[in-house]
Amino acid sequence: MPIPPEVVEDLEELVQIRRDIHAHPELGFEEQRTADIVAARLTEFGCEVHRGLATTGVVGTIRRGNSLRAIGLRADMDCLPMQELNELAHRSTHDGKMHACGHDGHTTMLLGAAKHLAKTRNFDGTVHFIFQPGEEGHGGGRVMVEQGLFEKFPCDAVFAMHNRPGMPVGNMGTRAGPLLAATDRFDLKVRGRGTHAAHPHHGTDPFVIAAQIVLAFQTIVARNVDPTDSVVVTVGFMKGGTAYNVIPDEVQIGGTVRTFRPATQDMVERRMGEIARGTAAAFGGDADFTFRRGYPSTINHADEAMFAADVAAEICGEAQVNRTVTPTLGGEDFSYMLQAVPGAMLWLGNGPGEGGCFLHNARYDFNDSALPYGVSFFVRLAERFLEKTE
Ligand SMILES: [Zn+2]
Ligand SMILES: [Zn+2]
Repeated sequence: MPIPPEVVEDLEELVQIRRDIHAHPELGFEEQRTADIVAARLTEFGCEVHRGLATTGVVGTIRRGNSLRAIGLRADMDCLPMQELNELAHRSTHDGKMHACGHDGHTTMLLGAAKHLAKTRNFDGTVHFIFQPGEEGHGGGRVMVEQGLFEKFPCDAVFAMHNRPGMPVGNMGTRAGPLLAATDRFDLKVRGRGTHAAHPHHGTDPFVIAAQIVLAFQTIVARNVDPTDSVVVTVGFMKGGTAYNVIPDEVQIGGTVRTFRPATQDMVERRMGEIARGTAAAFGGDADFTFRRGYPSTINHADEAMFAADVAAEICGEAQVNRTVTPTLGGEDFSYMLQAVPGAMLWLGNGPGEGGCFLHNARYDFNDSALPYGVSFFVRLAERFLEKTE
């Protein structure tokens, strides 16, 4: 089944919605205007509407028939705290805020699917349209789950899409297992003993210790991680000292760790602590190491991922669907929903993009020509998941 004609007819309206949301970006948990638009449209389409989960979250529901089966379709609504550099007519009108991750497109596609499914109701069961706030580091998905999303709106499976610059429009991709990484942060305080720079033997230089630790951290990736697994340990900052001729008391280091497998995540956390404390002790200093867990890795359930890939192939053609995409070391808080309910996330081709730029780039823009593919995919996913038996 290619794109349904009604979805093509709706396209102009969807482009308008997408560009309006793009022009009025809102940060995590502040998506009041966006949530108002979403709730108003869902009501107009004939959905039951629930508001207030995770502050600005919106859930629209439609039912048909007697089946108790239910599917959740999820989109994110928030923007990023960055200045848009595009000259487009629909560029951001909010200083320092920008839809640079395409969540304007995700929200619009889910609205398009809600409109179509509410009109045609060619399914037996329940569809929940989940619009979540605060994906960009705020954990809005986690908050919705903690506040009872799946108790209030039980789902047998939940699905989401993220646009993918660099993947041609009309292509989709996914994989069974990890799709995105766990995104953790660490802080390290290395303490020595300050002294005159020309008399190092009177103190303990924390810079020399910190330098050894930074290098030794990379041996975790090279020597402790299974070579078939993937891990990133990145030091993002190193701060300390005030003068050319003073050795300070302490140096601060911080950065991020990305892992796919929970067992690897535990191991990396343990090894970093051992290396930091052991190295500092070996040089006569000491180290305070803290590891803060962020989003867990986004792990697609195998059956749901392949079911979604089958639906994607119906919309895009088998040759346009990659069922074994390479996972990325970015993160997603859809991971919390996948910990609660089986499901999968997919990539949706966004084309080369303006100037070929990637997500979180000041010149990024969601590609409106991807809208009909995303809408049709969500529609068909719900119809096939809740297939009528009579
Ligand atoms: Zn993002
Ligand atoms: Zn995103």
